[in-house]
Amino acid sequence: MDPNREKSLHRAEELRGEIEDYLRFKDEFLRETAEKRDIISKKHKQELMEYFGADEENWNDWHWQLCNRISSVSLLAKFIRLTDAQTKMIKEISKKYRWAATPYYLSLMDYEDMDYPINKMALPSAQERDTSGELDPMGEEHTNPAPCITRRYPNRLIINVTSSCAMFCRHCQRRRLIGEADRIESEENIAAAIDYVRNAGEIRDVLITGGDPMMLPDELLERIISRIREIPHVEIIRIGTRVPVTMPQRITPGLAGMLKKYHPLFINTQFNHPGELTKEAMEACNRLADAGIPLGNQMVFLKGINNDKYIVQLLNEGLLRARVRPYYIFHPKQVTGTKHFQISVEEGLRIMKYLRGHTSGLAIPQYIVNAPDGLGKIPLLPDYIKESDETHVRLCTWEDKEVEIIY
Ligand code: SF4
Repeated sequence: MDPNREKSLHRAEELRGEIEDYLRFKDEFLRETAEKRDIISKKHKQELMEYFGADEENWNDWHWQLCNRISSVSLLAKFIRLTDAQTKMIKEISKKYRWAATPYYLSLMDYEDMDYPINKMALPSAQERDTSGELDPMGEEHTNPAPCITRRYPNRLIINVTSSCAMFCRHCQRRRLIGEADRIESEENIAAAIDYVRNAGEIRDVLITGGDPMMLPDELLERIISRIREIPHVEIIRIGTRVPVTMPQRITPGLAGMLKKYHPLFINTQFNHPGELTKEAMEACNRLADAGIPLGNQMVFLKGINNDKYIVQLLNEGLLRARVRPYYIFHPKQVTGTKHFQISVEEGLRIMKYLRGHTSGLAIPQYIVNAPDGLGKIPLLPDYIKESDETHVRLCTWEDKEVEIIY
């Protein structure tokens, strides 16, 4: 045999060996876990529809999903068997931090296992009693030059249009904004924010977020987007939303058609676990992608949810199938009440290092730590440089093989 072919075959075999464990994990997850979950969530959906006297049309209507959010322990107990201690704990925590989940998201939960990642992202836990950390570790309150605005960079800024969300995620980094009631910013404040952008000629990129801006009715959202689009120096508009994950019914053809008029427009969402990549969620993403909107995902590393290299790989590869580019992985911030989700930077870097070489570059987002006091994003990479000076650099490959480049 041609020695080059022989070497290539040997290398191909070696590479196959590298991915075998992951393929076993993926197979088990997709063929057993995901299939089982799909059957269970369909059953939950039927039970929820029966309880609320709803039909398929209601279920697919985001207004219905929002009106019927589950936010009381007595209602939750009709579906999930809670112990007395859990009931007491949820009542206690909800006095401090709001909680609510759409019937759709509840249907994805495991009614028997409160440690299932989907449950943990939506339902209060006793660990939220921990008061360490800060409510505003990014110092957003000090980067607020006009109503609704957060500005941390020279040429881009955020407009926060509402404190409302379809679900109040337990790991939320902005829980200080998620008040007692759903609050859409006044038209006056939003107008002042847009005026600020109009008068700041250096701003080329505006991110509309919240809360979740997709909680606004289409007409109001369009008024905001269209007024920003009229500003000549704003080149791109971005929207940050978790509704494709928590209430995909919100992504209606009408909404996608409206957004399509304001290109270049980008949407970033937040899938944190492959169990969130349901058929409905993927359809919502496809609808946005069909409207020409580039989609990105901003996962947050969360202990017990996705601090696992195979879970992250599975999620990111699934996102690409849904036409969503994994964009950022955020290191969890020191937000009060979320300590139980925190992981170390070392653990995050180990997962990032694994991804390189084991999946396509498209499935590898940037790992980001947000600096305290509004000082911006810090990208982190595993340490690939072993030694470097003016004459050479010694680098380390994804397989930990050292190579040297001499100048
Ligand atoms: S959707 Fe976003 S802003 Fe709203 S609770 Fe979840 S993480 Fe926080």
